[in-house]
Amino acid sequence: MVRFLDVGQGDGAWLTTPDGRTILIDCGPFSYGPRLVSALQQAGVQRVDVLAPSHAHADHMGGCYHIVRSFPVGVVLWTGQTDSSTTWNQFWQEVQSRNITITQLVAGQVFDWGGGVRTRVFNPQARAPSIPFHQYDDSHVLLVEHGAIRLLFVGDLHRPGEAMALRAGLRQAHVLKVAEHGSQSGSGQGFLDAVAPDVGIISAGANNRFGHPHPEVLTRLASVAAQPLATAQCGTITVTSDGASYRVRGERNVDGRCSGVSPPTVTSPPPTTTSVRSTTTPSTATPTPPTPPLSLEVRGAGPNGTAMVAVQTNPPRPGVSCSIRYVTPAGTPSTAADLNPKTTDGQGRASWSWRIGPRTQPGDGTVEVTCGNVSARASIPIT
Ligand SMILES: [Zn+2]
Repeated sequence: MVRFLDVGQGDGAWLTTPDGRTILIDCGPFSYGPRLVSALQQAGVQRVDVLAPSHAHADHMGGCYHIVRSFPVGVVLWTGQTDSSTTWNQFWQEVQSRNITITQLVAGQVFDWGGGVRTRVFNPQARAPSIPFHQYDDSHVLLVEHGAIRLLFVGDLHRPGEAMALRAGLRQAHVLKVAEHGSQSGSGQGFLDAVAPDVGIISAGANNRFGHPHPEVLTRLASVAAQPLATAQCGTITVTSDGASYRVRGERNVDGRCSGVSPPTVTSPPPTTTSVRSTTTPSTATPTPPTPPLSLEVRGAGPNGTAMVAVQTNPPRPGVSCSIRYVTPAGTPSTAADLNPKTTDGQGRASWSWRIGPRTQPGDGTVEVTCGNVSARASIPIT
């Protein structure tokens, strides 16, 4: 369960994993901290397992100071950036004086948070120590996956940061925490096209002086059929997931807009960076999806990188011959020697890895895998 907290002008999300761990991705501004502490205490929380400020700005990490003073904290996930503000320095001193483990985030990491919840990191990027951090563009980009459901946290990411996260392989998410409270500096069309969320959560204060959310961001969200939900209207917005479907509910229901989002049945297997996307026709009932006879897991790559495709037969069928066909984004079938037919192993799985040619143009290629008399297709991002 994720609660996008009604923190006023700022960001704060409180995640509870199926096995009871507590994760905070931002804590709202300093003034919100005491309220967050008492909400956690009232819910019986005794420990914060993961504290992940998206960047060093006070409207995101201010309240984290109170968290560190009030709960044992398992680990702080740190973007690497600091700030000259008193708010940041107080927080950071408190983290260090308590010897809390600090893990620096870098694109490519995957954290297993237990209970079927994994988190992939797409920003900040690896860098030379001499390159300074940009506070907006080096916001963390965390894709939280619970089974097939994907929620994306992007802090106050601006467009150059969005481009970096996409180059790092970021693709679709069902729920997007919209960048920087709906500011025009983030949520570029290319980014929203790639992420294609069903729901965009806008965390901003009512009548804030920044004019958040920007009308153009709302237009762009509409262009990808994402439903905008704002904490200013809905209060705290709760997303509950069972790993195959999810529901969204506002604390208040303004004009019927803040509840009843009853989205998509997910038909693709939990992907890594696949471009397979489920259809998202909202419906009141969420039927259990049938398991397809072949599930594909796809991992794209850039020139000279290694792409990967794995197939799982359902139910598992060992010893079946499977062939693969990969067509590059330019439409040329690949003749890579590593794409020979394979026989499924004892778990009914087979996989292929091959090198992407140095001059392959970026875009979406396609892979088609045939095992016995069934086939499955997916697109594969070449970055
Ligand atoms: Zn902010």
